[in-house]
Amino acid sequence: MSKKTALFSFISLGCARTLVDSEGLVNALHGAGFQLVEEGSKESLTVLNTCSFIKAAIDETEANIRLLIDKKNSGDLKYLAVVGCYPSRFKKADLSVKFPEVDIWLTTQEESQLKSLLSELVFKEKFTPSAIPPYKKLTPSHYSFLKISEGCDNWCSFCTIPKIRGTHVSKTVDEVVSDAKIQIALGAKELLLIAEDTTAWGEDIYGKPSFHILLDALAQLDVTWIRPMYIFPSRVNKELIDVMTKYPTISNYIDMPIQHVSTPLLKSMNRRHDREFLEKVLNDFRNAMPDIAIRTTLILGYPGETEQDVDDLVQFIEDYPFAHIGCFGYSEEKETRAARIKEKIAPDVIRKRIERVMTRQHELVEQRNKARIGQTLDIVIDRADFGRSEYEAPEVDGGIRIQSDKVLVPGHVHKGTIIDAKGYDLVATI
Ligand code: SF4
Repeated sequence: MSKKTALFSFISLGCARTLVDSEGLVNALHGAGFQLVEEGSKESLTVLNTCSFIKAAIDETEANIRLLIDKKNSGDLKYLAVVGCYPSRFKKADLSVKFPEVDIWLTTQEESQLKSLLSELVFKEKFTPSAIPPYKKLTPSHYSFLKISEGCDNWCSFCTIPKIRGTHVSKTVDEVVSDAKIQIALGAKELLLIAEDTTAWGEDIYGKPSFHILLDALAQLDVTWIRPMYIFPSRVNKELIDVMTKYPTISNYIDMPIQHVSTPLLKSMNRRHDREFLEKVLNDFRNAMPDIAIRTTLILGYPGETEQDVDDLVQFIEDYPFAHIGCFGYSEEKETRAARIKEKIAPDVIRKRIERVMTRQHELVEQRNKARIGQTLDIVIDRADFGRSEYEAPEVDGGIRIQSDKVLVPGHVHKGTIIDAKGYDLVATI
């Protein structure tokens, strides 16, 4: 066992999928003699796990790299490793010329090499396992993101992720259940199932979408909520809806990015379904689970989008209520097929379209939230004065502001009554 130790800080950019990878890397480094500290705690090493799927994410990543290089140049940092989606999207040789101060570049597929490369760089010796300290979580202990597969084969026309993350590979039922049990042992009561497309789970094992098999296995575990995220509409099937209605622990909540509702745009996006199918999927979910909360994401300003398409989208969110919407402006990424479409939309038009959709969504959410006043429901405490019900996911949705004389412990579940609605949040007494 190596006795050498070094302090390191870790920065995780981007989405929950990167955060899951970051947690794995932090714990792998713990087992190699490195000790995680807050940034600016005299650490000799920083690991930056990056995002690069659109230009804004690349800009954020490069801004972080420049800040860390400044620290290195001023002597506050000795080593810098940059891993994940950014070095996966670009050639490492080019990145090494652009940022020669970075010591290690690793793609998402190479991340398992991080501990041995850092061991050689920092300790000047080959990696030898050291005594592993307790598992370090990067999310609060009462919920965990569980990654069920890697990569994506959908090739949506605007998206760089299949190129960055590679083809879709499912973890087995045993692997996911074992990961879940570790998280439950660490205190997780809520499991958020994530992947690039959770509904693709099992296609490479069983030859057809089989997410329901995995949900069935996970529903046997001792948890309060299992939350399916990143559902791809065209892979929703009867088996999935049946298993969701069968188990009370599978939350009345899904995250299903629809991107748009115009059939020609969906076709151009290579989404593999049309508006009619989307309506059927939404109706099927709501018929089976009348109080289901559906979160979605939309892209505004995709090439060729007309004002009529935006009118239709606004009408759609009135007719098919979404509890939560994330709205993004189309970002042209040059390696994608969408980048070759000629009918571009001007950035200020995109901004106005986003504003229009989100203003209407805000009004609709306020109306629906007001109608919930008087409801009593289970609320999980995230922090002393804030919590969520099964209808809100952590980190991305609104939540419930809590009024109570009691001392409320994060992770505990209490019955609460909704007494008011403020913007995207509710107010409840416990
Ligand atoms: S489903 Fe489409 S948008 Fe999502 S990661 Fe795969 S290709 Fe990208």
